[in-house]
Amino acid sequence: MLTHCPICDQQNFSKILHIPEAPVHCNCLYSHRVEALAAPVGEIQLLYCESCGHIFNRAFNDDLVAYDLDYENSLFHSTRFREYASEIAAALIERHNLRDKSILEIGCGGGDFLKLICEMGKNYGRGLDPGYDPSRGVPSSSTLNFERSYFTAAYLDAPLDFIVCRHVLEHLAAPAELVALAHTAAVPIFFEVPNALYTLRDLGIWDVIYEHPSFFTPSSLQHIFERNQFTITRLDEVYGNQFLTLEAHPTFNQTTKRIMPPISDTGELVTAFKARRAEKVAFWEQRLHSFTGSTQKIVLWGAGSKGVTFLNSFGKNIPIEYIVDINPHKQGLYIPRTGQKIISPEALNEFQPDGIILLNPLYQDEIRQQVESLGLQIEIFIA
Ligand SMILES: [Zn+2]
Repeated sequence: MLTHCPICDQQNFSKILHIPEAPVHCNCLYSHRVEALAAPVGEIQLLYCESCGHIFNRAFNDDLVAYDLDYENSLFHSTRFREYASEIAAALIERHNLRDKSILEIGCGGGDFLKLICEMGKNYGRGLDPGYDPSRGVPSSSTLNFERSYFTAAYLDAPLDFIVCRHVLEHLAAPAELVALAHTAAVPIFFEVPNALYTLRDLGIWDVIYEHPSFFTPSSLQHIFERNQFTITRLDEVYGNQFLTLEAHPTFNQTTKRIMPPISDTGELVTAFKARRAEKVAFWEQRLHSFTGSTQKIVLWGAGSKGVTFLNSFGKNIPIEYIVDINPHKQGLYIPRTGQKIISPEALNEFQPDGIILLNPLYQDEIRQQVESLGLQIEIFIA
């Protein structure tokens, strides 16, 4: 059990939410339904740090979590996401003059973002990820080198101009260790994490997952970098406010002791969150049963963290049999704990659902187009 805030070391907490059993891995899918139903669970005790605005799961147990080859979370199959990634890559190339430079990506996944930024700026890339799989990911080449590994000091011996790290920090029990290690590289950095304000303010409640012991708000993200001697040049809410991006460069011989206070209404959002979340879950539970009552067939679209969390919010007997995903590596597999099968969009022609539930409003246009291109007319509900 964590006794101190992992970001500012204070003990000034308020309780947000308790989820006794959540799937440990939202992005580990199963080949057999029986295995999926028995997928491991962990406890979430979400606390809010009133000193720095950080949100964290005090019951997180690092030993339960593993990021190996069964871990599949690439978002690059989505057009909307690829457009976003291109915009970010172009902006970083411009602002940091990343041309003919050496870039290290910590937690590169399948390597798509590193490939993009290296191709766009004619850069050299090194990507590290314990779940990198050469049979699925971008292959190594003369300009790209991928290794199935965590980030260690050993990787800082090679020439290096810039560090990229996207959607890693929130997975770590001790995120400050990675930030401190990145500081020793003495190069500018770009970090991206999910935005906890989106969860609180915009009720992105399907983002509360066991794999994330940390939920960064702008103040806690700022604090962890300033405390580790970085000067922040940009801190933005992006991608429909779902992500926070941070750009910074290291400074030396100057430690920031000041804790960044949370922005003004975060405490109020935290206070209201438990009831607002319960109301949203109850609304959708009732809605799902009203679909069954009227014998409407409903599918969920998107077998990522949001989809797995949605399905696991209602117990095991919910009237959804299938979940659609465009990622071919997920199709045919089963969802942890609730056991729905993942199917391709084309399979909807056979199943002929009356409605599709979608959990990320950013993908609405893209999915509407895909459904229409299949010659289907299906109502889309945003949850
Ligand atoms: Zn704190």
